[in-house]
Amino acid sequence: MAVYVFPPPPVFSLPIKGIGARFAVQRLFFVGRNYHAHAQEMGKPVDKSTERPFYFTKATQTLVQSGANVPYPPETQNYHFEMELVVAIGKAGFRISQENAPEHIYGYAAGLDMTRRDLQLVARDKGRPWDLGKDIEHGSVCSEIVPMPEQIIDHGAIALEVNGQTKQSSDVNKLIWNVREIISDLSLFYHLQPGDLIYTGTPEGVGPVVPGDRITGRVEGVAEVALGISSASDKR
Ligand code: MN
Repeated sequence: MAVYVFPPPPVFSLPIKGIGARFAVQRLFFVGRNYHAHAQEMGKPVDKSTERPFYFTKATQTLVQSGANVPYPPETQNYHFEMELVVAIGKAGFRISQENAPEHIYGYAAGLDMTRRDLQLVARDKGRPWDLGKDIEHGSVCSEIVPMPEQIIDHGAIALEVNGQTKQSSDVNKLIWNVREIISDLSLFYHLQPGDLIYTGTPEGVGPVVPGDRITGRVEGVAEVALGISSASDKR
């Protein structure tokens, strides 16, 4: 048995609705600009006829479970929520056809892709990586995983409130690239693994939170997600 000089990282996992076993999380993938109205509010409209989807990743260590209270992150003045449908992969696959995409789906969840918007936009406009804007400690929030094996979600209300006030309200049927297309396209670049989560993108209405705020959101027919924002941590 290996001896380590410090403890190896823990297994990150999420509860699964209805069963005692947990969903061990592998990687966190995120689709950028996957609703037209959000792409437009970011000043970067999408033409599906000439563009392909794009992705970014966050470290699995950024994952927090719905219901958590997290500190306002350092080095931002504009911390944004993004409400997203999350696909949970249950079966390995590479170069998956759209037709075969369903067999790789374990289930779904409701997630928040928290974003340092100020840093993301600086990075975007200077042609730099997005990591500081996106790969944020406690910045990948996810509900329980809801088993929906081999099911395709192609519609359903997606909404988010801050302190009870509606900020985002759309429908998953407005995804530019749908669940089949995302699984198929992402699997051209990565060998998808059981435990991978794919955040499918946010609708319009993204905006800031401040310490003391409480975010609630949901994807109809899937799950709810909640997050509290507390004061910035002064721990080193
Ligand atoms: Mn997002």
